[in-house]
Amino acid sequence: MTTPLVEMDGDEMTRILWKMIKDELILPFVDLKVEYYDLGLVKRDETSDKITVEAAEACKKYGVGVKCATITPNAQRMTEYKLHQMWKSPNGTIRSIMDGTVFRTPITIPTIHPVVKNWEKPITIARHAYGDVYKNSELRIEGPGVAKIVFDGEDGSHQEAVIQEFKGAGVVQGMHNTDKSIRSFAHSCFKYAIDTKQDLWFSTKDTISKTYDARFREIFNEVYAEHEEKFKELGITYFYTLIDDAVARVIRSKGGFIWACKNYDGDVMSDMVSTAFGSLAMMTSVLVSPDGNYEYEAAHGTVTRHYYKYLQGEETSTNPMATIFAWSGALRQRGVKDGLEGLVRFADALEAACFDTLGDGIVTKDLVNLMEGVTPKAVNSAQFIAAIRERLEKRMA
Ligand code: NAP
Ligand code: MG
Repeated sequence: MTTPLVEMDGDEMTRILWKMIKDELILPFVDLKVEYYDLGLVKRDETSDKITVEAAEACKKYGVGVKCATITPNAQRMTEYKLHQMWKSPNGTIRSIMDGTVFRTPITIPTIHPVVKNWEKPITIARHAYGDVYKNSELRIEGPGVAKIVFDGEDGSHQEAVIQEFKGAGVVQGMHNTDKSIRSFAHSCFKYAIDTKQDLWFSTKDTISKTYDARFREIFNEVYAEHEEKFKELGITYFYTLIDDAVARVIRSKGGFIWACKNYDGDVMSDMVSTAFGSLAMMTSVLVSPDGNYEYEAAHGTVTRHYYKYLQGEETSTNPMATIFAWSGALRQRGVKDGLEGLVRFADALEAACFDTLGDGIVTKDLVNLMEGVTPKAVNSAQFIAAIRERLEKRMA
């Protein structure tokens, strides 16, 4: 390796898996160069969460990071970890510093069939993670009156529109987005489509929302113009359609494309798509910034329930697949950026060794009931990782 990978350690069961993955599947094979940031809750509290900001800055500086799942503190965690403050979600902090879009892709295998039987390839969901209903203002209206939407420009300009003349009680909501955020969302999507050589779909409801959603469509069109040549060269397409038409087409499709969604659509549709593909433990996640920086992680959390069992000395069978794929994704990206063929080859071999293991019917407990056409053998996390190592050694020999 020539440039360090930004390594962000995390919490609970995934922190245990993290070390096992590094010791068994990475360090014996790669002359690993990392800049290490401990984003475990203890360290975040010790540093007043500065460590998270530093890690995000490092991702921007070096261009590729790999992150372990981390606890987002709540009231219960405040007492459990005796925290000085209820620190914000590390993912939220990293996302706002890197200004990126999150792409979630299922890891698919032939023995786990998606609920939607015609899906042959993974569907990646790109969710815009800024604004709309997640940053709204809303009012409960108690009786008759007029609700308006008002804008006072710094230049003295004034715009207003009536939302509703209420005859009785009701509710009203105001929300926003910015051209800047929509544009960087669009850039990240086109960039990721080019990187992964997949078609890009985008959907809104611009027939109904003729200004708000229409702005999203306009900006995507403008940004597409900048990437059109590359799309043509790669033989991939950009396809815009209404959200309801998109939903129908996604279900009928064979998969194998990226579906860019507005914030709410992405929230809802990513749960549908991930469940239909099988398991949260088999879902990867990558944050892509509009200027081409990448942060890889698993889509699941720290698997607290398993960790408490582990602490009591019980054997756990937590699935490390998504975390391993975060490492392989990050190492491959580092390899591509630095022109290191060997590193790319290793990333491919690591993923292939994982598929070999699952193909041999060796699985963690969460997958047992999902497997079809084979009699799976459930093992614990350490045995699963050892089985992958055995197959990785064969592939690397
Ligand atoms: P979770 O850690 O994703 O786990 C929820 C349940 O899903 C688990 O109890 C387990 O089900 C199953 N599961 C998830 N990943 C699995 C794996 N790799 N192997 C096997 N089973 C798996 O979600 P959570 O319990 O709601 O959250 C726990 C902590 O994670 C919270 O503190 C939250 O803040 C944090 N979190 C972090 C991230 C992130 O860093 N990206 C994302 C989400 C949540 P069974 O118990 O039925 O086996
Ligand atoms: Mg959701």
